[in-house]
Amino acid sequence: MAKKFIPVCEPDISQNEISLVNKAVKSSWVSSIGPYLTEFEKKFADYCDRKYSQAVANGTVALHLAMLALNIGKNDEVLVPNFTFIATANAVSYTGAKPIFIDIEKDTLNIDPEKIEEKITPRTKAIVVVHIYGHACDMDKILKIAKRHNLRVIEDAAEAHGTLYKGKRCGSFGDVSCFSFFGNKLITTGEGGMCLTNDKKLYEKIKLLKGQGMKEGRRYWHDVIGYNYRLTNIQAALGCAQLERIDLFLENKRANADLYRKLLGGIKGITLPVEKDYTTSNYWMFTIVLDKKFNRDKIAKKLKDVGIDTRVAFYPMSDLPPYSKSMGAKDSTLAVSHDLAYRALTLPSSSKLRQKDIVRICSELKRLL
Ligand SMILES: *Cc1c(COP(=O)(O)O)cnc(C)c1O
Repeated sequence: MAKKFIPVCEPDISQNEISLVNKAVKSSWVSSIGPYLTEFEKKFADYCDRKYSQAVANGTVALHLAMLALNIGKNDEVLVPNFTFIATANAVSYTGAKPIFIDIEKDTLNIDPEKIEEKITPRTKAIVVVHIYGHACDMDKILKIAKRHNLRVIEDAAEAHGTLYKGKRCGSFGDVSCFSFFGNKLITTGEGGMCLTNDKKLYEKIKLLKGQGMKEGRRYWHDVIGYNYRLTNIQAALGCAQLERIDLFLENKRANADLYRKLLGGIKGITLPVEKDYTTSNYWMFTIVLDKKFNRDKIAKKLKDVGIDTRVAFYPMSDLPPYSKSMGAKDSTLAVSHDLAYRALTLPSSSKLRQKDIVRICSELKRLL
């Protein structure tokens, strides 16, 4: 009998999710107004210890709104880690500003605070931090640099729901912090996102721009060109149900990571993810780095042949056509990301993965190495 196919990451939907989504549909509040939206915004802001929140259509537009709220635009530069999902860089580009790529730390794969200052120019407006695969960035160092150079900080916490940095939740550090609730994130609304802030002015600007720029209290009056970046009440119902179970998801992801560590520890040729003292990772995606002597893509294919899905790491932003053209030849300041991005591989990481699945994954991987 063929063994069960193990996907990289699938959502965990229970009866609770189905029942709240049903209620939302039956209530007729199917668009972008409704009680689940208000509840989801309030509860997620509380969870991240933030004052203000706006639910939006996805994580990419959350980042776009964050940029716009901070007045980032043409002639500005924004510092972005070279190893991230392309949405982080694209959100900068949408505004007409230019993303400037920063290399990453060898162990955490996060933006390297030591390499930020050398790329600051008079045009630099902001730093985007991304907590890659759920491991927090070293925020104290980054916030200190931002303060010294008068830069705004945007937190791309799309992968870091529930992650702690020195006891505080990720999503609580940026001038604006952005989340995604895509299907493979720790909690999902199908597609969805959120902007969080403690600054009332930024919150109001985000709210205005996400709703077509329509003036509050005066229907169909628009002082600015806005967007339709809203989330629906149906999606928010799914989000409310998921948020009730977030502790369980976190616990499961951490248990997965523990078992992976136990089964893969000490094996030559692979580097396991680190967890620095300053963070409690949500282990969103358990990602290993393979030794140079292995062909990662071949290993991924062979795992797929035996029913185990994996995910290659993001390519470095500086190697992707929309950004490589302006980069010149291989930029030596980005050497770490150029190396590691081509050797990193994400193993299945669903919160509902079973122990025996992990045992099977590890034994197949060991066989291939
Ligand atoms: C998922 C993700 C996003 C974008 O989220 P969408 O909801 O898919 O638009 C942005 N940044 C990072 C780091 C992500 O992982």
